Amino acid sequence: MGINNIIYLTEAILLVIALIALIILLKIKHKKIIWKYILVLLGIFLCIFSITFIIERPEIKTEQINNIEVKTQNKITVPAKYHFQDVTNNVKVIGNIDFNTTGDYDVSLELDTWIGKYKKQAKIKIVDTTPPELTLEGGEEYNQSYANGFEEPGVKSIDNYDSDITDKIKTTKEEIDENHYNIKYEIEDSSGNKAEKIRKVTIIDNIPPVIDIKGFSNMTVVLGGTYEEKGATAVDEKEGDLSDKIVTEGSVDTSKEGTYKITYKVSDSKGNEAVKERIVNVKQQLVYSEVEAHSGSEGQAGVIYLTFDDGPSTNITPKILDILKEKNVKATFFILNYGETGEELVKRAYNEGHTIGIHGYSHDYKTIYTSEEAYLSNITKLQDKIKESTGYNATITRFPGGSSNTVSSFNPGIMTRLCNIMVERGYKYFDWNVDSGDAGGARNADKMVDNVTKSLSKSRANVVLMHDFSSNSKVLDALPRIIDFGIENGYRFSNITENTPMVTHRPNN
Ligand code: ZN
Repeated sequence: MGINNIIYLTEAILLVIALIALIILLKIKHKKIIWKYILVLLGIFLCIFSITFIIERPEIKTEQINNIEVKTQNKITVPAKYHFQDVTNNVKVIGNIDFNTTGDYDVSLELDTWIGKYKKQAKIKIVDTTPPELTLEGGEEYNQSYANGFEEPGVKSIDNYDSDITDKIKTTKEEIDENHYNIKYEIEDSSGNKAEKIRKVTIIDNIPPVIDIKGFSNMTVVLGGTYEEKGATAVDEKEGDLSDKIVTEGSVDTSKEGTYKITYKVSDSKGNEAVKERIVNVKQQLVYSEVEAHSGSEGQAGVIYLTFDDGPSTNITPKILDILKEKNVKATFFILNYGETGEELVKRAYNEGHTIGIHGYSHDYKTIYTSEEAYLSNITKLQDKIKESTGYNATITRFPGGSSNTVSSFNPGIMTRLCNIMVERGYKYFDWNVDSGDAGGARNADKMVDNVTKSLSKSRANVVLMHDFSSNSKVLDALPRIIDFGIENGYRFSNITENTPMVTHRPNN
């Protein structure tokens, strides 16, 4: 019971006593005496009432200032009553409060009363009870391809008090079954307010099968010839061989010139579709003059032209250059596309007096023999590069596989046409009439030396086929022995130049 209530109760009791006394006195017959008593009683009552009214203390309610949410206000209002009146607005709060920072603040509450200043000490508590916001970017459902891992689409947590607390998010994985799991995100701010979210992950199959076309995907058939549909195979990473399910569309009419498209389509059980196309060109074979072979008899008798294909390589080419330098022999390099270290070797070979010949930017038969245009651009692309590296305009070439190759048979007649076209365009192409066998049957240096020395002839020009690709270390052992054999047996060594008569095979396609 508050002090004010005791005062009010005391006053009420006194009033009742006074009234009872008054009634008793009114029943007494001696009137003079009665009025005296009444006045005395009323006086006493008024005195007591006045005193108690004066000393009454204000009633200040501090419970409400115990939990003030941080950042929500900038002024404290303390509810107070005095003499039955609301004096909330008269209460002064003395003390420094930072409404933007949680914590306890000691303050003094002051209120003016009839008998002076009334003071009361109080604690103000600034609290944070708002949980942080937790946002899942990309939604709460996530489809994960079985082929890839889970890639977090993004999660963010902003707290009203701690600001960005994304780095405090804790994640846990909850397995459900083979194809489902949850990722649980939990966050707690510095005041212990928590938030939680769940991302539901479903593992899906969105990887299409892979179609592999049998035979060539870009090919030429001679007008009036036959097109044999070789089909395709399909493999799905998850479902295995789906070749049976391939749907083939399109056909080739070899009696009509044109470009035909065969489409192969297949879907796995989840509806992931793969499509591949085969382009078949039906073309009238252009009539080119028959191409003669050149055996070397038109060239300088007893000369050996050493040639190296498929380089440059960083491990073999420099050593070949060292050997040639030591023996003072010039040779010819039929090169492929090269990188930075290869460029240094091309420059070195050129500066040391060797001939840089063009084998091709790419060696891939399926690509370069697709069409005349494809072959020519494979030549000019490397020709431009050699010119940029050395300033030399290379026009001496060698067909990948040689002019007599049959690897180009998917494009009937292409080699005959190219042999004509290359000469028409001012190029020379060289095959070989001495095969060291280093890219085929010759398994070691002895065999290479044997192959070469047996085939050399004094009565013609000799073009010797060797390779300087990186795995061909046997050539390093064979080369000095071949050179020594040549010198000892009265041969002369030279590099191929623009004036060297061509040594060629007869095309087989
Ligand atoms: Zn080659």
